[in-house]
Amino acid sequence: MSFLEVENVSKVFLEPNGQSLCVFKTVRLHIEKGQFVTMVGHSGCGKSTLLNIIAGLETASAGAIILDGKETDTAGLDRMVVFQNFSLLPWMSVYENIRLAVRAAYPQWDRGKVHDYVQRYVHMVGLSESEHKKPAALSGGMRQRVGLARAFAVQPKVLLLDEPFAQIDALTRGAIQDELMRMWTATKNTVFMVTHDVEEAILLSDKIALMTSGPEAELAEIVDVKFPRPRLREEITELAEYARIKKYIIQFLKNCSREMPAGDATTGLDAVAVGQQLAAEV
Ligand code: ADP
Ligand code: MG
Repeated sequence: MSFLEVENVSKVFLEPNGQSLCVFKTVRLHIEKGQFVTMVGHSGCGKSTLLNIIAGLETASAGAIILDGKETDTAGLDRMVVFQNFSLLPWMSVYENIRLAVRAAYPQWDRGKVHDYVQRYVHMVGLSESEHKKPAALSGGMRQRVGLARAFAVQPKVLLLDEPFAQIDALTRGAIQDELMRMWTATKNTVFMVTHDVEEAILLSDKIALMTSGPEAELAEIVDVKFPRPRLREEITELAEYARIKKYIIQFLKNCSREMPAGDATTGLDAVAVGQQLAAEV
């Protein structure tokens, strides 16, 4: 039995016109404790929906989520989500945003213990100087650092990251990916992350789940990434195996790209990013 089991999960939405939309079907994905698993696929294939089902924020139409041996279908602090839009409380400072989550997760801790613990996580993401600032006074990169520190601080059974770096500029993104890797190495959390960035997926993951395009998307394949850790970006990007995996995934996405005609208003960020990567390849 695996630590987190996505067991033949399907999702059907009822659309306003009364028609039903099967987003994905019979997705089966097993994640071991401490593993970092990413999911890659075109916009609309249901990645966020699946992540929300794992989080208990959305219900599965069929199948089950089994976490640590127990079926789960409601939200809980054992699964923390980091969203693309940061979702910090705007009236609270960096410190207070993290403290709120820590107090909820560890109600038995006294003030001093909570304080020391929160400061440790603020420090881990390099925000000690800014701990009294409110989100509006922070850059996107800093906000997402708070989101990550908050999520890791709770020490959930599973961390769920939904394209956490999509709104962050490329230079900052690299630095935060490195921080994410360091926090993950230090805490050994189990992570499920959705991304449209193939290089990010290879750098961070133990396994990469490839989804076909929706509707009725399916988990086509799971790619193992076996580079030793800790990984240095400069080193692994030089490896022939890195180039092979990257080419393979980009080709996979290209082959199931029926959802991404250029300029179509329904195509999302993922398609644009994949398009850019494809353009860079040729
Ligand atoms: P992804 O994250 O892979 O881009 P989503 O999970 O956001 O995809 O969405 C998958 C599909 O499900 C899309 O076609 C979207 O329009 C549809 N969808 C998502 N949420 C709802 C909802 N609450 N009601 C109806 N359709 C939805
Ligand atoms: Mg999404």
